[in-house]
Amino acid sequence: MTENSTVLVVEDDVSLMQGIRDILEIKGYKVLTADSGLAGINVMETSQAQPDLIVSDIMMPFMNGYEFFNEVRKEPRWMKIPFIFLTAKGEKADIRVGKALGAEDYITKPFEPDDLLVVVAARLKRSREIETMQTQEVGSVKRGILTILNHEFRTPLTYIVAYADMLNREPDELTYEEMKAFLGGINTGADRLRRLIENFMLLVELQTGEAQNTFSWRKCKFNNYDEILRQTVEYLQPVAEEKGVMLQVRYSYGALPSIIGDAEYLRTALIRLVDNGIKFSDKPNSCVYVSADARDGQLCFDVQDEGRGIPADKQKEIFEMFYQVNRQIYEDQGSGSGLAVVDRIAKMHDGGVSLESEVEVGSRFTLYVPLAR
Ligand code: ADP
Repeated sequence: MTENSTVLVVEDDVSLMQGIRDILEIKGYKVLTADSGLAGINVMETSQAQPDLIVSDIMMPFMNGYEFFNEVRKEPRWMKIPFIFLTAKGEKADIRVGKALGAEDYITKPFEPDDLLVVVAARLKRSREIETMQTQEVGSVKRGILTILNHEFRTPLTYIVAYADMLNREPDELTYEEMKAFLGGINTGADRLRRLIENFMLLVELQTGEAQNTFSWRKCKFNNYDEILRQTVEYLQPVAEEKGVMLQVRYSYGALPSIIGDAEYLRTALIRLVDNGIKFSDKPNSCVYVSADARDGQLCFDVQDEGRGIPADKQKEIFEMFYQVNRQIYEDQGSGSGLAVVDRIAKMHDGGVSLESEVEVGSRFTLYVPLAR
């Protein structure tokens, strides 16, 4: 099989470097070479073709393999290039350090040509698979967003434009009540748009792995769930009042075990759940109950409503992106992106979302996250 990928070989032992180059070139790889990390950086900066993979020795003058690796990973355009270390036989520490740094693989010297070729081909294949998967994921999020954009952005915008138009036309002749109603309409439309945009941005972040990066440096051990509950309820109180729904919170006063997570993402998820609880409560004097609890090794955020409920055969689908129950019947819905956000935030925390619901009785959504050990 011929390969047209480009491999950068960094090795100060010139005869070994030439040997590796020959093995790879016979198989059809394009090969760039350098005799130190510094020279490797120079080649990457000046060469027209960027390498698809780097094979680098560790002990080298000027800039050793580890330093070279760090320089490569610092640069965003090179960050995804798979990196293979050449380690000396018996140097277990080299392998450990290389792994700890995050290199994709290593080859122990001396090696047979086939050992090298197998590792190079496997790493290139894996990196192409990841690339294809990411492109497809971004593509499907984009398509979903574009489909929904047409309807979901137009409706609230029509609201805003129509009410603003009425306000503009004869402002002197409007009563105070009319003025208030029109401004309320503008507010509703603007709010719906804002939520839509927030959800779309979040979904793209969650789908492309960007959120995972943020999560990995922001996550920490904590048990201050009351703060998340308080902020959620504070944020949604006006929405609940407008709808005539009571928000009931049960605080834990610091008595619950810790989790490892990110309070901001969890609050974002909880807001979506409570918001839905309010939105889908149609009976007068309905309540939405919000609490945090520890059960079966999990920290559970429970959101229970007395709303319209969800038919059993729809309970799985609602977590899919852009899915809504009976979109044709209900006009009050959003974009079907809220629960997809909640689900992905829960999974990022190694947790999940469960649901118990009965039509016309209500629903209980539970966002659970494993307790820290
Ligand atoms: P959105 O609310 O923007 O449509 P979601 O992803 O938050 O999107 O919810 C998807 C669908 O699941 C909703 O359209 C609704 O049909 C259903 N749903 C979500 N939460 C509830 C709830 N608490 N009670 C009843 N139905 C719900």
